[in-house]
Amino acid sequence: MHTTPADDLVLTATPAASLVFTTVLAHGPITRSEIAQRAGLSAAAVTKAVRPLMDVGYLVEDLNEGARSALGRPANPVRVNAGRAWFIGVKVTADEIIAVLTDLRCRVRAARHVRLTDREPEAVLPAITALVGELSTEADGLGVPVRGLGIAVSGDVDRAEGVVRYSPFLEWRDVPLAEIAATATGLPVTVDNDVRALTVAEQWFGAGVGLSDFALVTVGAGIGCGLVVHGRVVSGTHGVAGEIGHLPIEPLGPQCHCGNYGCVEAIAADPAILRDVREASGEPVATVADALEMARRGDPGARAVYARAGAAIGRAIGCVVNLFGPDRVIISGEGLAAYDLFADGIREAFVAAAFGTAAQCDLMTRPLSFEEWARGAAATSIQSFIGSDTQ
Ligand SMILES: [Zn+2]
Repeated sequence: MHTTPADDLVLTATPAASLVFTTVLAHGPITRSEIAQRAGLSAAAVTKAVRPLMDVGYLVEDLNEGARSALGRPANPVRVNAGRAWFIGVKVTADEIIAVLTDLRCRVRAARHVRLTDREPEAVLPAITALVGELSTEADGLGVPVRGLGIAVSGDVDRAEGVVRYSPFLEWRDVPLAEIAATATGLPVTVDNDVRALTVAEQWFGAGVGLSDFALVTVGAGIGCGLVVHGRVVSGTHGVAGEIGHLPIEPLGPQCHCGNYGCVEAIAADPAILRDVREASGEPVATVADALEMARRGDPGARAVYARAGAAIGRAIGCVVNLFGPDRVIISGEGLAAYDLFADGIREAFVAAAFGTAAQCDLMTRPLSFEEWARGAAATSIQSFIGSDTQ
């Protein structure tokens, strides 16, 4: 089916259309009465919203179980037509750009990686544009239009304005990324914080599906946290929410790059672990992988560093759980490579810090590659496309 931009307006024509589509996206195939239940809409409102979405091919009916309900309404489950529109997601790390092409259900169809040697926006943006060009050509070859681009960057990102306020790893300040990328690629661009983007992907397509309240904690170069409260990803009034990396866990602890002392990030992020393992061993340990190997070989100093880091993360998770009582905390990030060394510390500190039944919260580890983070960026683009970010 040929797509025109006018067809796309159906998705955002009414709040009910957007809500129905989002519900089918996360829970489909699903019957109309189940949609009504989940979305809190009347059966009539769902039927009215589904029809135009089917007319333009964004939703399709699973016909094989065909039947009509007693009331004469179609009883077949409906699902999203994943191949109807494609999206590109880009994750920028400190040394790499990862781009993925996804379908409307955020399944990765193609991926590209390029090394980043220069972190200046003047070098990064042309690299992003080139990757987007390659993936768009691939989509064109298959006859599917790319409808949006999502870019995920760590740090303080103002999604509404499309501006990276401050990214410590890239050393960017006030970069109007959405505007620049939209001009360069001709696509609608969504720019978001990388952890929040990954949280959107987990909420719709991952370990957060069906959960009203959950947190995603990422461990690695930094310590991040995405929060979903009552089914919504929390951004906060200032765009900064869930910054558990800067909870002051050890007031007399080491100084953090933010200026405060004893932040989780100053104890448990990769640079802190490297610093402490060097200090404990008196050896010029070169990389986090070397520090990890040293701890696995049984070096007591290195093991103590990981145990302390695990305790800091566990205490921070305890704070998060005490604050909003999520169903689940998903722990991810490249730091999971050291999870065997962290696990006991995290668990013990979490149980000690969690109040009462909050300790029953499900702590789950979930390794997600950087491609998954790029997929998160695509999810934010899908979110903008279907208008579910403005509800
Ligand atoms: Zn800090």
